[in-house]
Amino acid sequence: MSVHSIFDCIIVGSGPAGYSAAIYTARADLKLILYVGPEPGGQLTTTTEVDNYPGYPQGVSGPQLMEDFKKQAERFGALIKEQTIMSVEFSGKKGGVHKLYTENQEQIQTKGVIIATGASAKYLGLESEERLKGAGVSTCATCDGFFYKGKVVAVIGGGDTALEEAMYLSKLCSKVYLLVRKGQFKASKAMQHRAERISNLEIHFHHEVKEVLGEKFVEAIRVINNQNQQEKTLPVDGLFLAIGHHPNTDVFKRQITLDSSGYIITEKASTKTNIPGVFAAGDVQDSIYRQAITSAGSGCMAALDLERYLLGIN
Ligand code: NDP
Repeated sequence: MSVHSIFDCIIVGSGPAGYSAAIYTARADLKLILYVGPEPGGQLTTTTEVDNYPGYPQGVSGPQLMEDFKKQAERFGALIKEQTIMSVEFSGKKGGVHKLYTENQEQIQTKGVIIATGASAKYLGLESEERLKGAGVSTCATCDGFFYKGKVVAVIGGGDTALEEAMYLSKLCSKVYLLVRKGQFKASKAMQHRAERISNLEIHFHHEVKEVLGEKFVEAIRVINNQNQQEKTLPVDGLFLAIGHHPNTDVFKRQITLDSSGYIITEKASTKTNIPGVFAAGDVQDSIYRQAITSAGSGCMAALDLERYLLGIN
């Protein structure tokens, strides 16, 4: 196991929060590394057009936005490593040194940590869904939609993500079923109105998936109407899950205080966790706003909080 000198800041995660924290800490001349983790660029790399990020009047693609964040962090000398932090040993003391371990068994020592690991897509938990992951079962229309050109797919969920994915797929596919378990959407009214105008998008309320059918690839789904318990089989080539996310806190959960849904609890009006010198930013500590702009803002806050911590101000 190799051990490096002591860093000022290790940033774990590479979404808007992680890169914003890297831009601010690098500009403050802190000695830092950002570990990108298993999903470089975070959730935005699975999005199509981002229309609401300030500074891009014509909109920007999610992957391009993240590439821009990365380049900006690198311009100020942030060291970015394509590795994942697998475990941590946080010091419980103010001014203590934290130890983080990479997948290559490297031990990294640091005075400060910013956790920006975001959140991951949820699955239904069906055995058949697990078996057909990557063989027709997907959580990312932008990544996989291309493979379903001219085909029939189903999207599960009633939130903004589900509607966004369904609308994206409706441009590529001959038909899209949108299955919502309740009698109404959770998505914003604006998104609902847009979705309702799409002719090849067929919305089924009160419907749940019971089984994904197919030997090697998805061929159909068995669904149930949860009001009258009637079952039917819908022939589909792809199944896109858009039923929310869970925070990526497994690595930290034994040491960091989490809420009942697994999100990191930060001190009011700051990014401080229960451990001195460890801060959290972005979706990993935000189950409410979850926007690129709010994540970026909290990444900036974490960098400033960490800087003050190192100066002994708080
Ligand atoms: P949400 O939590 O908002 O919605 C999840 C949806 O999935 C709900 O309709 C929920 O149903 C349904 N669901 C959950 N579990 C299951 C299950 N096991 N079976 C069937 N359906 C299930 O998540 P989103 O990812 O849609 O959105 C997250 C946040 O990101 C929101 O705040 C959203 O507004 C925001 N967002 C904004 C966008 C934009 O502004 N362009 C784009 C995408 C997301 P139920 O209602 O019954 O709980």
